[in-house]
Order: sequence, then C-alpha cells, then structure tokens
Amino acid sequence: MLRKTLPAILLTTYLVSCTPLKVNYIPPTYPKTKKPIAKIYIDAYADEEYQRPRVGCQKWKPCIENILDKAEKDINPQLKTSKRFQKYFSDIDIEVKKIGTWESPNFPNNLLAYFTFGFMNNFMRIKPIKNKEVDIRIGFTTQSIPALGFVNDIPGKYIITTGQDCLKDNIDTCYKNEIDTLKHELGHTLGLHHNDVEYNQMAHQDVWPIKSRFTNQARSLIADTLLSIRNSRTLDKRIEKNKEVLKATSKFLDDNFNFKLKFEFEQNSKCYIEKHDYIKDEVNLAINASGSLSVEFHYKKGNKKDALHNKKRMHNFYNFLKRLGISEVNEDLIFYKTHWKTSANSHWYDQVINIDQEKFNQHFDKIIDYLNINALISTKKTKKLKEIKLASYATGINIHDFLYYLSKTK
Ligand SMILES: [Zn+2]
Repeated sequence: MLRKTLPAILLTTYLVSCTPLKVNYIPPTYPKTKKPIAKIYIDAYADEEYQRPRVGCQKWKPCIENILDKAEKDINPQLKTSKRFQKYFSDIDIEVKKIGTWESPNFPNNLLAYFTFGFMNNFMRIKPIKNKEVDIRIGFTTQSIPALGFVNDIPGKYIITTGQDCLKDNIDTCYKNEIDTLKHELGHTLGLHHNDVEYNQMAHQDVWPIKSRFTNQARSLIADTLLSIRNSRTLDKRIEKNKEVLKATSKFLDDNFNFKLKFEFEQNSKCYIEKHDYIKDEVNLAINASGSLSVEFHYKKGNKKDALHNKKRMHNFYNFLKRLGISEVNEDLIFYKTHWKTSANSHWYDQVINIDQEKFNQHFDKIIDYLNINALISTKKTKKLKEIKLASYATGINIHDFLYYLSKTK
C-alpha cells in the first residue's frame, strides 16, 4: 500500500488522470551553512617492486603516505576555486582508509607497455572493491609501465600509478613527477580526458612542468563527479526507501505507454541515454548521479566529415544552451574542450558539455527536444524521458534514480 504522503497523492493523481501532470518545478536550494565536505575514500597498495628501498624512499609506506598527502594538498585548493564545487561543497577531504601490498604480474620488459591493460585488469581482479568500501583504489608500482586511470568508465574506481628509481641528484624532480603522475591519473578517474596544453595536468606526457594545473572547466567537471560519487553512495538506500512508489509508477508507465525501456547504466553513477563505442566518432549522452546532463563527443583526426559535423553540433548545442540563459559565468554550463596526440598520426579530440542538475531540470523539455531535433537522441527515448520526468516531479524521486531503477528491473 502506498502511504499517503504528498508525492504519493501526486502520484495517485498522475496515475488516475492518465494525462501528463502539470507540476511546477521548484529548484532545490542549497543553504550556505549546510554544505557538506566532499569526501573521497581511497586505499593504496604497493607491489613487490614498489616495496624495495630506493634512493629517497627507503620505506615504501611513509613514501606512499607522503605522495598521497602532497597530491591532496595540491588538488584541494584548486578544486575549491571552482564555482560548481562551491555550490555543493564546503571543503574536500581525501581520506586514506588503508595502505597495503599486492603482488603484481611481471611481464618481460618489451611487452610491458602492451600489457598495461592486463596489468590493470590483474589489479582489479586481485584487489576488487567490495561493498563500496572505497571510492578509488590505487596500485603503486615501479615497473616501467604507463600509469593508468580509467577514463572510459567515468567515474572510474581503479588507478595504476608509477614511481621510478630516482637518482641522488634528481630526487626532487623525480618524486615531484610521481606526485604529478598520481594527480593526472586521479584526474582521469574523476572524469577528465587528456588535454595537451602546456602546464596542463591532463597533458598526455610523462613529465609535467612545475605549476601544471587543472583548467577551470576540468575542476568543475571533477566537482560534478564528486557530487555523483556522493549521491551514488546512498543510491541503493534511496531505491529501497522508494521501492513501492517506483514499482507502482514503473507499472503505470509500462501499462499506459508500452514502456519497454532500456537505458544503459555504467558504474551505477552515470546513466547513458545513448551510448556508442568510444573508438568511433560518436556522441554519448548521460544523466549523472549528480543529476547533471553530460553530452560527450570524442573523435580521432582523420574521419573529417563526421568530426566536423559533430564538432559543429556541439558548438550549436552550446549556443542553444546559452540562449536558454544557462551560463558558463556561474558554471551551470561547462564546456570542456580538449585535444591530445599519441603520435603524429594519432590525434584525438574530446569535448564535454555538462549542464548542472538545477538548470537541466528547469529546462528539461527544451533541452531534450533540442537533442531530438538535432538527431542526438531518438524520438522514442525523448518521449520516455519526458514521461519519466513527469513521474519524477509527481513522486519527488529524482530522474537519475528513476532511470537506475527502471534499468535494473527490465
Ligand atoms: Zn593520461
């Protein structure tokens, strides 16, 4: 039985009337005094190679503590300058829950680069995160493999970061680079693609110059991911609490709108509305656990026709959002444009447009219609999303949670 709370009454009206319910959206307010601290829980594991004493790092454990501490001290003040961060959080705290050891695979030197992903997969298999004990798990190694932070599973959960055998006369730069590597991989894990601009923390390189930083857009995207991580932690609890209402609404949508819904979920925090292969020149649309909408476009130089077409589409979408009054000035709108290359022939471009949950909710129909008219989302899904939005407003359960529930029960 539904308890007669206000959302339940609204839902009943909605269910009985069979017509879209007009509910005025009241944007949530975030009182200044009650902003939470953005917490990230991490743990770290050193492999056998990393545990060996080396110049400047006789004992691996304090060495890792020091590197984590320095990375945090550099990242925190950067994030705190982001207006998107300031909107939701008062401060940031990276809490290290454990520092332990792991046994890494040893590949022949010439095959190490080739096996980078195998190395990561091995770490994920040996040290899987269970029961959401941490948000991010870091493997430290001094084997000469490229470091990895998984960006195509945003937000990622695993990092492999590397240290080197330092020489006495370059200890400072050597360890600075170890900290930079960790910051760079954390950036990936928190949602950032490469950006080959000088002094950029996300530049695709092995050595970062002093004063390398995240751009303003990068900081704000990280802030959005932090909000997603925070909201994801209580997602299952919210679903459990609202189960009856979700069940009834889901049945109603199925019965009345032939709602055979399939949205793809990734890592429980990002719901893909349309998901395409990253390698192809394609556009991804996602509603995040933060409530924001991301439109992501990736392309590789060479496929000019599609690339130019999509580049123009992103630019047009950006201009459309600006006309709606969604502004970059207060970071309701983030346009993260990057490019990077792995060789002369391999040049990549990534563009992300992110709309804060408040503005997205406010202009939901217009934005979804725009995406539909411009062939970025199918007519079928446009219709379904609008129904979910109405059900969401009627029940007080947010759109992301609805999508999550529906994708799990289909
Ligand atoms: Zn990278």
